[in-house]
Amino acid sequence: MVAHLAVYGCQQNQADGDRLRGFLLEMGYALTDDRGEADLVVLVTCAVRKHAETKLLGHLGTYLHGGKPGRKVVLCGCMAQREEIRELLRKRYKQVSLSFGPADLGRFPIYLRRLEAEGGRHIITSPDTAPIEEGLPVARVIDPELNRANVTIMTGCDNFCSYCVVPYVRGRERSRAPEAVLAEVRGLVEETETPEYDTQNRTFTADRTREIWLLGQNVNSYKPDFPDLLRACGSLDGDFSIRFMTSHPRDAGTRLFEVMARTPHIAPFLHLPVQSGSGAVLKAMNRGYTRTEYLEKIRAAKAVIPGLTLTSDVMVGFPGETEQDFMDTLSLLEEVRFAKLFTFQYSPRAGTPAGEWPQTVSQGEMKERFLRLLEVQKRIEEESGG
Ligand code: SAH
Ligand code: SF4
Repeated sequence: MVAHLAVYGCQQNQADGDRLRGFLLEMGYALTDDRGEADLVVLVTCAVRKHAETKLLGHLGTYLHGGKPGRKVVLCGCMAQREEIRELLRKRYKQVSLSFGPADLGRFPIYLRRLEAEGGRHIITSPDTAPIEEGLPVARVIDPELNRANVTIMTGCDNFCSYCVVPYVRGRERSRAPEAVLAEVRGLVEETETPEYDTQNRTFTADRTREIWLLGQNVNSYKPDFPDLLRACGSLDGDFSIRFMTSHPRDAGTRLFEVMARTPHIAPFLHLPVQSGSGAVLKAMNRGYTRTEYLEKIRAAKAVIPGLTLTSDVMVGFPGETEQDFMDTLSLLEEVRFAKLFTFQYSPRAGTPAGEWPQTVSQGEMKERFLRLLEVQKRIEEESGG
């Protein structure tokens, strides 16, 4: 049996994809890049913005026709945990035989075996407090140029930013045991533990992994303690560097910055999503920090970590965002001068508080602000020689 795995969305989804790939290989599937020859198609999806969902649903339509007879489609990832989407799958997208949410990743083999044995359709609502399972297989696709490997250190989110669907689809925050994370990182460093899938040769090799990313929605609330975990991982011997994502500005502090500065293998790199430069918007977003506090953290990080590279996420068009609020975002960009920015146009999500609020910024205004934002950031990057 041959499976095709396609991952959409963030790095966390990529990491989930590595696990699903591990399961598939363990269950005896071969993997293919060509979905035309696949008996099983597994889609890891994103629900952060409506656009991502609409695109995926359009794409899903193409699975109706062609392909191998009897081909089965599995939909997992954040979209699969949204009630609205499950309803659509039940009624319209009958080509999907199995769907389950990201909190339930460890049960994939059970679900898949059941599908193989019984056939039919299984549209599953995953529990949002499923315990984190250790010892799951991982099969990474290492891009030889990036030489990057993701390690999930926690799942879920308890922050409930007012615009964000993640806490609803990924469930409550749960941390992996530090020993398990450390063992996985050590395996990647020592090239011994984790089989890695070499895309070019389509064989398993123990390719050396140099850039290791510790992943979670808010790594700073990792339990028992993120700076300790970072120090332990970054103190291993070997030729590698560690980065992490995402740090919530509210919870990032001097201890983190000091560990970054003092631990040998931690890259001087910090992704600190600000979302907006306006205090009023930050408050409405339920971000838990003010503009001043954010800038203070940036100053502290720069002071402690030599050669620090900063990146961020910024959103425009949040309900209530005025021209002045938007100007405050631009002025924050000028002040911090991020090396790279991930930019988003606000998308109302059902089930989130902001999803119920009137959208005060028209599509036209949103687009216009978005272009101005890109313009400013482009100039900053050019001036910095980036
Ligand atoms: N946990 C991370 C982000 C996860 S989502 C953090 O707290 O930063 C990644 C990014 O998507 C967010 O930083 C935000 O900028 C964007 N995003 C989330 N929900 C969105 C929405 N409803 N509309 C537009 N962008 C959104
Ligand atoms: Fe979403 Fe906020 Fe959690 Fe990030 S911290 S995943 S933006 S709720």
